[in-house]
Amino acid sequence: MTVQPGWDAVYVADQPPPWDIGRPQPVFIRLAEQGLLRGQLLDSGCGTGENTMMAAEYGADALGVDVAPHAIEQARRKAAGRGSAARFEVADVLDLGQLGGLTFDTVVDSGVFHVFDDEDRARYVASLASVMRPGATCYLMCFSDRQPGTMGPRRITQDELAAAFRDGWAIASITAETFAIHNFGGASEAQAWLATIERAGPGSGS
Ligand code: SAH
Repeated sequence: MTVQPGWDAVYVADQPPPWDIGRPQPVFIRLAEQGLLRGQLLDSGCGTGENTMMAAEYGADALGVDVAPHAIEQARRKAAGRGSAARFEVADVLDLGQLGGLTFDTVVDSGVFHVFDDEDRARYVASLASVMRPGATCYLMCFSDRQPGTMGPRRITQDELAAAFRDGWAIASITAETFAIHNFGGASEAQAWLATIERAGPGSGS
């Protein structure tokens, strides 16, 4: 698999990385409270699993996958300590077919889409398509072009989201939100887009 170098190293450093805040992202808590994190759920690039465990608490059959073995180890340790039903596996989200044919009703992407370059972005979208059932929904939160400066991940425009999820998808909404972060130039939040993206059903031209 194409492992972007460095991902595992950030999870063995002394300080947790800026996004690893030890609690779920507030935006995803809100989605869970609205009953939207449901069914068989994939947390794509789950890091240490806070959003995955939160989804499981709200009743989803939640699986978190990440390419970084130390992130998955931490997620499993936290889940065991909390008695969470969430499951975790090391996997490459650019090749979700390797999950052995698992498919999902709901996908959560908190800060993963924005890590990929253009080529891997296309692979990622195809990989998501391969595991999402017709009518399944992906809630994708990425850094937005409203975030000033250049520190951190690449900024994403709404047009880029629309272009990436054009064929075989329907973007239900893109809303301005914020990531909760720490150790990030003194800031405690960053500007984000939350895209709600539906996988087209049969007969819808995909
Ligand atoms: N969703 C988590 C982590 C976001 S940071 C959270 O909200 O805390 C981006 C994550 O994507 C990192 O954990 C990194 O290890 C993971 N990642 C990057 N490339 C990946 C790939 N190809 N497959 C799986 N995970 C990947």
